[in-house]
Amino acid sequence: MRAIVRGFVLFVVIVCTVLPAAHAASTIVRDLPPGLTVPDAAKPGPAFDADRATEAYLALLTPEQRELSNRYFEGGYWLQLWGVLYGVLVAALLLFSGASQRMRDIGRRVSRRPWVQTLVYAFLWLLAMFVLLLPISIYEGYYREWQYGLATQTFGPWFVDQLKGLMVTLIVMSPVITLLYAAVRRAGPRWWVWAGGGAFVFLVFVLMLAPVFVDPLFNDYKPLREGAVREAILSLARANQIPTNNVVEFDASRQTTRISANVAGFAGTTRVALNDNLLNKTSLPEIKAVMGHEMGHYVLNHGLRLIVYLTLVITFAFWVVHRAMDWALARWGARLKLEGRGDPAALPLALAIFSVFLLLLTPLTNSIVRQAEAEADAFGLNAAQEPHGFAMAAMRLSTYRKLNPGPLEEVIFYDHPSGYDRVHRSMIWFKEHQSIPLPAATPGVAPPVGQP
Ligand SMILES: [Zn+2]
Repeated sequence: MRAIVRGFVLFVVIVCTVLPAAHAASTIVRDLPPGLTVPDAAKPGPAFDADRATEAYLALLTPEQRELSNRYFEGGYWLQLWGVLYGVLVAALLLFSGASQRMRDIGRRVSRRPWVQTLVYAFLWLLAMFVLLLPISIYEGYYREWQYGLATQTFGPWFVDQLKGLMVTLIVMSPVITLLYAAVRRAGPRWWVWAGGGAFVFLVFVLMLAPVFVDPLFNDYKPLREGAVREAILSLARANQIPTNNVVEFDASRQTTRISANVAGFAGTTRVALNDNLLNKTSLPEIKAVMGHEMGHYVLNHGLRLIVYLTLVITFAFWVVHRAMDWALARWGARLKLEGRGDPAALPLALAIFSVFLLLLTPLTNSIVRQAEAEADAFGLNAAQEPHGFAMAAMRLSTYRKLNPGPLEEVIFYDHPSGYDRVHRSMIWFKEHQSIPLPAATPGVAPPVGQP
């Protein structure tokens, strides 16, 4: 068994050395050029046809760009599967090699209090998971991002970000796992109900505290820069009764070429943030359209709603873990020297069951999120009144999200409406609002918009 562990650790070391070195400078032209020009077929007139207008926007991507985007996104489907299978393999390794049981015994040598034992176990286990999952993290988060022209960080700074993430995980998750096991010891077979309630409180705290304590570790957040963009966004915020001091920008270009914006926080810490790629690489109508969408999340209270749905899903998953664990422990517990469901050494087994079950639930969780995203789209179209800006932004996102999936594919794998769907709905909206002024064409090589 030692040979297997050694072999596996060697594998991790080799992959971690080879992958970062293997990325050649990528020469991929993935991005669309800056600027927005409304295609002729999408201009207003008695003959305006939403389907033809949609096709005209879709044609902005060359066949090569579309092929690249499809390959990147479809590869992601397989990565989800491989990620879970690899995680199950890691769990098996920790259990069958006795490594998990040894980490539990270290905890027992440190203290006689069960909560200290669990805390020590959780800390060691999280560290081991970080190391053992490195090959997948490096491939998915670093190598593949460079391969597709989405990354901007060299390996050193990327890895420093991973270490910061590990630090946050250790500080937050060690006590959370300790509390989870306290619930297992106290509540017995009803632990999953307690754990579900705990998950709700945990999610609320994460959503509330992450923007204040976690996000600034990775990026620099500051008030939105002065200029026409700021005026337009703050006007949109005022019109929708969003406190304007909660609109900020951050330097995502440190890590990625993606454009994005988000709503984070809860209650007093809620804020709307847009990234510098969005500010620097797109036009004002696109920025307004994207911010209208984000403000939709805020106004429609999606943060809290998603927490409630997610809590239900997680509680269901805890119940499945409970049933499957008791069954598995009755069969193999003695042979693996696991002492029941309250034994932290059985945590890898619990996590393996949990992650396989959540993978099976992906179509449900994706659909829950996608529905909220579609609501925010509709809100944003009405609030910002920039259907062409939204269509263009959707096309930019489609340089790394498959543009036009099949219906079943969309239900299973999409946590946002597809690019086709977003452009099409923008054009349907525009058909009914053809009197709004068209955005002035912005040249293809415009200086960054939004600079003072
Ligand atoms: Zn959204």
